[in-house]
Amino acid sequence: METSAQTKNRTILGLKLTGPLIIAGPCSAETEEQVLSTAKQIASLGKVNIFRAGIWKPRTRPGQFEGIGSIGLEWLKKVKSETGLPSTVEVANVKHVYEALKWGVDFLWIGARTTVNPFSVQEIADALRGVNIPVLVKNPVNADLDLWIGAIERFHKAGITQLAAIHRGFSSYDKSQYRNKPMWEIPIELKRRMPDIPLICDPSHICGRTDTLLATAQVAIDLAYDGLMIESHYKPSSALSDAKQQLTPEELGKLLEKIVVRVTSVEDRKFISTLEDLRDKIDELDNNLVQLLANRMEVARSIGACKKQSGVTILQNVRWSEIIQKRTIQGVEKKLTAEFVKKIFESIHHESIFQQEQIMKEK
Ligand code: PEP
Ligand code: MN
Repeated sequence: METSAQTKNRTILGLKLTGPLIIAGPCSAETEEQVLSTAKQIASLGKVNIFRAGIWKPRTRPGQFEGIGSIGLEWLKKVKSETGLPSTVEVANVKHVYEALKWGVDFLWIGARTTVNPFSVQEIADALRGVNIPVLVKNPVNADLDLWIGAIERFHKAGITQLAAIHRGFSSYDKSQYRNKPMWEIPIELKRRMPDIPLICDPSHICGRTDTLLATAQVAIDLAYDGLMIESHYKPSSALSDAKQQLTPEELGKLLEKIVVRVTSVEDRKFISTLEDLRDKIDELDNNLVQLLANRMEVARSIGACKKQSGVTILQNVRWSEIIQKRTIQGVEKKLTAEFVKKIFESIHHESIFQQEQIMKEK
């Protein structure tokens, strides 16, 4: 990881760091061999501060791997004694808390599906009264900043002094670009309202894939996040959960190498977050545009088939003039120039004729 000369030494969650806090490890603990091999490879990178592994997995649909359970906590203890890496696990109820504490887990994290429920958060917070363990609170699945802040406050009120927020994106029906939309303005506002709470980005659950991880992690670092949580598995393709988004430890090392840490001013942060959100909107619109054009050509091919059957010519001049006229008026009303609308529709018409010709040529 390239770091600028200005990067200061600092303490996050009790750990002394010179760069961002890096949490990495598999989505889930599966076997002792998987946990220990992955952890050893991750530790040998010399860049990771905390080892993560899900022990109890909240799955969207039943019948999937729901976590190995408490036995995995023994493996995490071995990870610590063999590699020195402290561990973090997700706790979603009081039983998880007791088990994790019993096995000496170093940090607890609250999953996105738990943060949405103040009853669950309060129960966990109450179980932690008098225990000084750092707690990392993931954002709720829905885009509700107050719910996220509320969960952090519940732990604070229960006496937890070391807290951090993890941004893992927000669920939406459209999963074309992100598994969970980043909506950068929400964590940025959290940072403005809670400047002392370290903010960590989980690009793995935002992206849901590996090819866009680096770009998303870099945005987070450019927005002055305090750290990253990235899923890494020694054999990602055979992972029992989140196989598509996990990196091998080697790939993780390369990604961490490529991230550039810069010093960011507060104004820059607002600018970067706004720009990223606007770019996401453009990407989504472009995606819809291509889909709409594909749908339109599909209909054009059906028209071609009808014309072929009835022996009618492809070019229907009256209809074509009508389309251009109607769409130019509509476009101008919506602040587009007439020239632009004309060019676009000429191009669409051209493609439409080409597609119909292909149908005519078919035997
Ligand atoms: C996870 O970290 O594997 C996980 C289940 O995350 P989230 O709560 O963000 O969905
Ligand atoms: Mn996961």
